[in-house]
Amino acid sequence: MSLTSFTLSELCSLLETRKIKAEEVVTDYLKEIEEKDRKISAYITVLGDLALEKAKKIDQKKERGILAGIPLALKDNLLTKGVRTTCASRILQNFIAPYNATVVEKLEKEDAIIIGKTNMDEFAMGSSTENSAFFTTKNPWDLEKVPGGSSGGSAAAVASNMAAASLGSDTGGSIRQPAALCGLVGLKPTYGLVSRYGLVAFASSLDQIGPLTRTVEDCAVLTKIIGGFDAKDSTSSCEPIPDYQKEMMKKLQSLKIAFLKENMLEGVDEGVKEMYYHSLKLLEQMGAELYEMDFPSWDYALACYYIIAPSEASSNLARYDGVRYGYRQTDSQTLKEMYVKTRTEGLGPEVKRRILLGTFALSSGYYEAYYVKAARTRRLITQEFMEAFNKVDYILTPTTPEPAFLIGAKKDPIAMYLSDKFTVSANLAGIPALSLPVGWSREGLPMGLQIIGNFFQESRLFKLAFAIEKKVKFRK
Ligand code: GLN
Repeated sequence: MSLTSFTLSELCSLLETRKIKAEEVVTDYLKEIEEKDRKISAYITVLGDLALEKAKKIDQKKERGILAGIPLALKDNLLTKGVRTTCASRILQNFIAPYNATVVEKLEKEDAIIIGKTNMDEFAMGSSTENSAFFTTKNPWDLEKVPGGSSGGSAAAVASNMAAASLGSDTGGSIRQPAALCGLVGLKPTYGLVSRYGLVAFASSLDQIGPLTRTVEDCAVLTKIIGGFDAKDSTSSCEPIPDYQKEMMKKLQSLKIAFLKENMLEGVDEGVKEMYYHSLKLLEQMGAELYEMDFPSWDYALACYYIIAPSEASSNLARYDGVRYGYRQTDSQTLKEMYVKTRTEGLGPEVKRRILLGTFALSSGYYEAYYVKAARTRRLITQEFMEAFNKVDYILTPTTPEPAFLIGAKKDPIAMYLSDKFTVSANLAGIPALSLPVGWSREGLPMGLQIIGNFFQESRLFKLAFAIEKKVKFRK
């Protein structure tokens, strides 16, 4: 039996007791990649030799970290020293990171093995990986469907046993949505819980790094390792990190749950609705008190997100000017011409669209009408959450309006933006949200349930997710 079918936690204990070797684990994973990635295209870079070398060293080591010998995949917007970090963009196609992201340092300190860098929508803008400048990743459950995005490569790699777990980034849903579409657990932590140092910035006030895993336990283990204060990120929080894995096993106490009023599910796929109501019924059987709630400002959440995220992106992406980073167009007569040609050739259509939108929203004369209004709406969304959390412990929603869709089905950018209908609000408010696989569509595609909690309530999210996971037995 291949070692790739074990969960991360199972592998950890096999490795800890030295029943298996890190080298065997990495060899099995590389074999899997060799066999499957031609079809799935989850990886931009596979670090085969480096990973094997590291595994051999770890096998020799006496004292080892918690993740000793565990092969992990990283979204290609996380800086890895000496290794290409492309953001799936032509402008960074040959960019070698000069230092490690803090999360990478933390994983390596625990002796994890980075097995590769995964495909994504260019600069994390998208919901399907179709915006990658290189290729589209396929959903392992149905190769004609998208894996979701923007962390689609990270999701597909874990779902097809080509990595034990992975990290992604989530600005408006990019961890949770692909997790849902690929049948994985995905967490967007509280803003500030995980350091963003070394994460290529998309929208800095929304971005968070988080894990994509096969089980809730694996997610809890990784969150504990990557979380915690980092002096290199000024938005990093000093909140202590509990032992999520231990906490999660404790009995559920208070179980007050808000669910969405039916009008908020308008346009949602029938199968997804069924899964949602089925999950609520299950929770009731588990002793939950359910409260129907309306979140009126959610109607504006997508509009608000699509002003704030592009505004921040237009400013963050100004650094790709052909001078400081990556690609430069060399056939220009003047500096300005070089800027224009570099960005014209180096950036893809969705990235350009966002830069235009953001520059417009921030320009004098329109700033009050768009950006300031969006910032106020963001405040209202946060307030609505805080009011809800005065009454309940959790808010449950479907993660996505539908299961994985066909590659090429959403040519209209607005149709694509609608995929984030249920996920953007948690980013705008900065609160944690987890997607848990709970069922299958009629076509045999996974569907996810989103559990939203109050600031720094990750422990509670894991606890509820773990309890549901045991009942649902999604992975058997
Ligand atoms: N799909 C959303 C977007 O295109 C969210 C992306 C993300 O979370 N990185 O902006």
